[in-house]
Amino acid sequence: MQEAPRIGSEQARREVRLPDNDIAATGAGSLQGLLQQYWGYTSFRPLQREAIDAVIERRDSLVVLPTGGGKSLCFQLPALVDAPGAGAATSGRRSPVALVISPLIALMKDQVDGLLAQGVSAASLHSGQTPAERRAALDLLQSGACRLLYVAPERAVGETADGLRALLAARGVAYVAVDEAHCISQWGHDFRPEYRLLASLREAFAGIALHAYTATATPRVRRDICDQLRLVDPAVLVGAFDRPNLTYRVLPRAHFRRQLLTILRRHAGEAGIVYCLSRRDVDELAVALADQGVRALPYHAGLDDATRHRHQDAFLNESIDVMVATVAFGMGIDRSDVRFVVHDGAPPSLEQYQQEAGRAGRDGLPAECALVTSPADFARWRERLDSKGQWTEEARTLLRGMQRYAAATSCRHRALVGYFGQDLPGDTCGACDWCLGELERADEPVVLAQKILSAVARTGQRWGVGHIVSVLRGEAIDAVTRSGHDTLSVFGLLGDMPAAELRGYVDQLTQAGFLVRAGDQYPTLAMSDSGVALMRGQTGCVLFRQPLPAKGKARKPARHGEESWAGVDATLFERLRALRLELARDRGVPPYVIFHDTTLRELARARPRRLADLHDIPGVGEKKVEAFGAAVLDVILGDAHPGV
Ligand code: ADP
Ligand code: ZN
Repeated sequence: MQEAPRIGSEQARREVRLPDNDIAATGAGSLQGLLQQYWGYTSFRPLQREAIDAVIERRDSLVVLPTGGGKSLCFQLPALVDAPGAGAATSGRRSPVALVISPLIALMKDQVDGLLAQGVSAASLHSGQTPAERRAALDLLQSGACRLLYVAPERAVGETADGLRALLAARGVAYVAVDEAHCISQWGHDFRPEYRLLASLREAFAGIALHAYTATATPRVRRDICDQLRLVDPAVLVGAFDRPNLTYRVLPRAHFRRQLLTILRRHAGEAGIVYCLSRRDVDELAVALADQGVRALPYHAGLDDATRHRHQDAFLNESIDVMVATVAFGMGIDRSDVRFVVHDGAPPSLEQYQQEAGRAGRDGLPAECALVTSPADFARWRERLDSKGQWTEEARTLLRGMQRYAAATSCRHRALVGYFGQDLPGDTCGACDWCLGELERADEPVVLAQKILSAVARTGQRWGVGHIVSVLRGEAIDAVTRSGHDTLSVFGLLGDMPAAELRGYVDQLTQAGFLVRAGDQYPTLAMSDSGVALMRGQTGCVLFRQPLPAKGKARKPARHGEESWAGVDATLFERLRALRLELARDRGVPPYVIFHDTTLRELARARPRRLADLHDIPGVGEKKVEAFGAAVLDVILGDAHPGV
């Protein structure tokens, strides 16, 4: 196995130079021109330009950018490069087609809808199509107008692929883009065996370059992608993994429903996902939220296909705000205005957490990721994996990584990118519970910890969290009196502390390794060596008093969340949002295909009054000015003169 070159963005920037050919000669200007004309953007995001150059140069590439980093543009824009001028991308001129391999119908649909709305000719072939739709796609392909063709991997390389391959060979393939390329790796969590066959595309279309795109940051997955696709001297472009627009919080589980409602209050009417660890939790929570008037629906693999699709569509079409889901709700969730992702329980790896939480704020606007967790989550995973015979060294390492993140008493952004081998510049991220100073330090943490530890010691290190809490609070319940623990000196030692708060401290001591949990069904607490040292005062500790939702005080939203609304007319924003929904419904596409929230906010900030001014709004390309400009101006001008 050849080591895939692992080079960071700096080095990559130096390595991938603009080629000395025709395209390069007109390159800089025309790439920029295409970006403006079709996407309505004025500048490239980090590494997009390099990634596009690799495609134009026909050099194999692996592009690793975080969710929302703008990967699709990297393989979409080069498909237009030989377009000599405005409108050429939609003209009948025959040019080779870019083949995009995508693992999910929903993803393909979204991207094709988005391209069509921008005025780029694109089509897809997948199993969800009617024969007529399929025919139309093939006609478009044969006509030569089609710039990008999206296909599922099994269509491109399976036994049924011969027909399509012949067609493509005749038509000419410009390059192959493999989206969500981590699906090729068993080390990722969306493994798709068909992806393994994709390297054969090289033989099918001689001289073709392959380009892989993923958000998965682990080096092992990256290497696997390079090996499996047999990439030749690829340009490896790895972006910065931090997502500065996401605010991360870790909340010790006290009363989950109340903790969730506090978060929901900060995001009334906004889109969000709540991940639960079991189907039952999903079902119950969805009902409970609906009872509270939250527009929520459940999603998990136990629901039949039709229901699942209906719920997913409801979420994508904005008929509901909150999706309550298991891990089954994942890839292909392209709604870019997801403003919060809450986890009821930690997933089994930080990779998975990063991916699920990363579904928030794809549009680059502020969003919140809250992990509500307790040590019980980890015991539960251990038990689950063990019962399936999957409690391997690998699984243990992954779970430990997740646990460390949950227990970290430092910047969450730094912890996350650090896990993926990157560094975060600066002292504070300004967007995590730690850096925002939301974690209040408990007074005299060592004394407090010693009281808890001695309760564990005095009761014989044979009891669970609940029991320890009861003893310390002086609750003369059955289990306590029967075991004689009401006679111990530790009984009632922390009598005036709310149970949830106390439990939080016990959990923190466990997360920090001073206490260890043993046993699966009724886990008990015992002291570790470091716990003994803490008892003896040989080491210190930090404990945090997290604001408990029971106090009913909603925390202020993150600072930079407010900034992103600066100068935005919120009423106008809502009106534009309503217009977007109407336009989307008319066209049978999800609203974000029409405009992203960033665009709506900018419109509600700049209040353009003439069609020509619309070109200055990011995300409004020529086609969109043409198609939606008048309607947008109506709303803006109508808003300015309510009486007219
Ligand atoms: P990814 O696939 O990497 O998660 P997307 O391709 O969906 O990301 O892009 C995320 C968002 O960023 C989209 O709304 C896209 O339109 C926007 N975007 C992409 N490139 C640019 C750019 N150069 N300038 C501004 N916005 C961009
Ligand atoms: Zn931070």
